Amino acid sequence: NHRLDNEYDYLFKIVLIGDSGVGKSNILSRFTRNEFCLESKSTIGVEFATRTLQVIRVRVFRNLLGTVHISDQFNSGNVGFIRVEGKTVKAQIWDTAGQERYRAITSAYYRGAVGALLVYDITKRQTFENSLRWLRELRDHADSNIVIMMAGNKSDLNHLRSVADEDGRSLAEKEGLSFLETSALEASNIEKAFQTILSEIYHIIS
Ligand code: GDP
Ligand code: MG
Repeated sequence: NHRLDNEYDYLFKIVLIGDSGVGKSNILSRFTRNEFCLESKSTIGVEFATRTLQVIRVRVFRNLLGTVHISDQFNSGNVGFIRVEGKTVKAQIWDTAGQERYRAITSAYYRGAVGALLVYDITKRQTFENSLRWLRELRDHADSNIVIMMAGNKSDLNHLRSVADEDGRSLAEKEGLSFLETSALEASNIEKAFQTILSEIYHIIS
């Protein structure tokens, strides 16, 4: 939608990080173009891709009795209500062009990022172990308020799994990150991962 793509309330830069081959580029293409490619083309990468979408937040206001009334109008009186606020957010998602292979991601990549999706591959234990190094890299180079979600990708390959869902979840919890298992192939939880990051950012800034 041409109109929507040029009119937005917020522009949020989000970076993709994690080892080579975990599925970052396919997560990006799934989210922005609904495309998936089985062949790896790790050296061919776009700098970033964008998608404009609605992000909502629900605010609950209570009256003096603690009861909540539902209203789509803002009432400033002594009435409780729920307000659903929607904003148009343009997500600008940055992908590496294979530099992660050499750990040669420059600080320009992280500059201005308000969100990050830290990806590992559930079938490759090492990519999960390395996520702590990526987290350190993020914390060294990105803004300290950056919203980070951890994604265990390739959940469709359950028969080849080498990282339990629970391992990902508990590491994320320990590090204060959100967590989801995703599949770019099956388009599972890709939408939810970005929606979660975007609405967390929206909650922080508004
Ligand atoms: P990147 O190096 O992190 O950007 O990873 P790519 O997006 O290039 O993906 C690496 C390989 O994993 C490619 O062959 C993809 O087709 C494959 N891949 C990516 N995501 C998934 C997924 O969710 N499930 C499966 N089965 N394969 C995936
Ligand atoms: Mg890539």
